[in-house]
Amino acid sequence: MSVLVYVENADGKFKKSTYEVVSYAKSVAVLLNTELIAISIGDVGKDELTSLGKFGAAKVLNVNNDKLKSFVIQAYASVITNAANKENSDILILANSFSGKGLAPRIAVKLQAGLADSAVDLPKIENNSFTVKKTAFSGKAFAMVEFNSAKKVIALNPNSYQVNESPVEATIEDFNPEINNSDLRIEVTNVVRATDKIALPDAELVVSAGRGLKGPENWNIIEELADVLGAATACSKPVSDAGWRPHEEHVGQTGIAVSPNLYIAVGISGAIQHLAGVSSSKTIVVINKDPEAPFFKVADYGIVGDAFEVVPKLTEAIKAY
Ligand code: FAD
Repeated sequence: MSVLVYVENADGKFKKSTYEVVSYAKSVAVLLNTELIAISIGDVGKDELTSLGKFGAAKVLNVNNDKLKSFVIQAYASVITNAANKENSDILILANSFSGKGLAPRIAVKLQAGLADSAVDLPKIENNSFTVKKTAFSGKAFAMVEFNSAKKVIALNPNSYQVNESPVEATIEDFNPEINNSDLRIEVTNVVRATDKIALPDAELVVSAGRGLKGPENWNIIEELADVLGAATACSKPVSDAGWRPHEEHVGQTGIAVSPNLYIAVGISGAIQHLAGVSSSKTIVVINKDPEAPFFKVADYGIVGDAFEVVPKLTEAIKAY
């Protein structure tokens, strides 16, 4: 038995969430006294693959196939399932990222495995019981999921587990499973990157704004604050619906769920659907001119004031710090 971890890359480089998920998978492998194997799909350099050894992966399966250049979900799910069978892995771990959310259930079906998505902590393994803590109801509650299947798929929420070094010598093994044509019914022919700024799902710091900003022409104050902090920018749903900001910045029940160390909410009322996407943030700072805004109820720190006065002062103060 081994633990298999799927490692995502962006343009051939591993992301922070990759090292989080490898560190988590290594801890699971240690709990089970077994080996950690990683599987990478795409054109990733040897140094990058070898770097996974630093976080405990003893072997890295390297799948570099032209047919898998773009993210074709069925084919990726088949390849990862194939690797799990080849390596006799009863546990597959991956990030609960955009692609992980799509892959995890598909792989669970193929492996006839139980699935815990949105996992936030290491499993509790006692006698024959294997339980994982996960978020539920759009982040409003936690649930303990007990597996009763031999095979298990766990999708770990980003920013839920600390990156830990646990160095071993990683061997790289090329893995070329046959790709079934039925898994390639769609082809991604072009990918245009919307922004080269910090990716929101991976961000440790987020500056987010809502309708209180009045219009897209005022976002410069949000971007300046985000720049001095090294933060990603985000927004509420009506803001992206109105086209003030790109859709991929929309946070909440129907958008992205984030769990940064710091979430600064500017001119956002704090509707329950927005809070669903931010409630696992470690520290929440709210800036709103209405002292009755619901967001203040979940804030760690709050400033009652006009965003157009408060935000530039905050930016200047951070610059001067
Ligand atoms: P508003 O509610 O209009 O709030 C603006 C806030 O700005 C107010 O609190 C106001 O006091 C403050 N303000 C105004 N001027 C200033 C100023 N000068 N300085 C400081 N503060 C100021 N919403 C999401 O965000 N994400 C979702 O995923 C989502 N999913 C939804 C799903 C469903 C099924 C439904 C029905 C709704 C969903 N919504 C979602 C919408 C949600 O209910 C709210 O309508 C929305 O979050 C409100 O956005 P807002 O806070 O930007 O705007």
